[in-house]
Amino acid sequence: RLAGWQRSLRAQFPIIANNPQLAYLDNAATTQKPQAVLDAVTDYLTTGNANAARGSYPWATATTARIEAARRRVCSALGDHGGDSVVEFVDGTSAGLRAVAGWLANRLTDGDEIIVPFGDHESNLRPWLDMRDTLARSGIRVRVLPMPVDSASGDYDHRALPALVTERTRFIAVTHVHHVFGADMNVHRVRAAVGHEIPICLDAAQSIGHRPVSVAELDVDFVVFSGHKMLALPGVGAVWARNRRGPRFGLPGWPGSPNTAGIVSLAAAFDWVDAAGPAEIHAWTVALSSRLTEGLAGLRGVRVLGCQTSLSADSPVQRREGIVTFRHDRVRADDLGFVLADEGIMVRADSQCQAGRGSDDHAVRVSAYVYNTPEEIDRVLEVVRRCEEMTS
Ligand code: PMP
Repeated sequence: RLAGWQRSLRAQFPIIANNPQLAYLDNAATTQKPQAVLDAVTDYLTTGNANAARGSYPWATATTARIEAARRRVCSALGDHGGDSVVEFVDGTSAGLRAVAGWLANRLTDGDEIIVPFGDHESNLRPWLDMRDTLARSGIRVRVLPMPVDSASGDYDHRALPALVTERTRFIAVTHVHHVFGADMNVHRVRAAVGHEIPICLDAAQSIGHRPVSVAELDVDFVVFSGHKMLALPGVGAVWARNRRGPRFGLPGWPGSPNTAGIVSLAAAFDWVDAAGPAEIHAWTVALSSRLTEGLAGLRGVRVLGCQTSLSADSPVQRREGIVTFRHDRVRADDLGFVLADEGIMVRADSQCQAGRGSDDHAVRVSAYVYNTPEEIDRVLEVVRRCEEMTS
């Protein structure tokens, strides 16, 4: 049933239709754009492009209205129906996380603490680490939550969390889906471990647009994501925030013009994901990554990161959220990347931007999205198998 649904969706991506021989499997880096998103941007730029809130003429007021509509679109996509929330458009996840950190830092007082997870994407730590010295001078300690790397699950060490929390903890930064391990980071377990008072900020760069996301279910206070990783244009993202557990988030008064065309593309991308079905998109990509991990399990030299250390064909393959990262004990990651590229297969094959790992994190990351196919996964497996044979 899903195969027919998927074929019709795949056909909506011009760049894929124009390059049938290529397999784009670097979706955790950025995604391709469906015709509907391209059309929405073209329509906006050719019929009513203006700056927002800068004039009383129709193109300007219509642009302002589009941005307001996009804010409501973000809320509905996150399952926030009429909540007391704020949506601020930013350049992307990194900019959004920086904005949240900068906003919060101005509200912390002497002795306050925040917890950031070590081992997540650098963008989730860097704003805090960069401010660490300045904050320390005001007596604000930034505590780093140690996340075990390469454990059986790729998940946080939830058992370590309660010991880090004190009555001065003001904020916890977490990630929804890990950009290397493809693991669901079990945010509900973070909430359960830290109690109900502390605001949680969710880096949802790898989850929104890829699976259903509900802020009510997750019980988080900030959600930050990038448009370009979910079918929209690069250079736009959003911070969703609610003020249940603290002061009201907002960037009003920040100078600068919004990325109007980007915001239009983001709203169109949410419409596309909604019509396709976030649960179906999720099921499809999880099936593709399972196919890959199962195939890799049959190769002796391969180690999937954040998975069982020795992944054998009869071990239960852990579920990956569309992202599978692996190393080979005899073939270098960048060599594999070159051979894959030579075969028209695009994956990430170098450093993985994991905080604290420096250049020690070279690996091959295969990240699937709704337009990818089982045949493309099989092509990856074939190349890895061939490289293994050549080196054994
Ligand atoms: N967080 C995670 C989990 C990511 O995967 C990424 C992008 N790889 C980012 C943050 C940064 O996103 P952007 O480059 O769009 O700012």
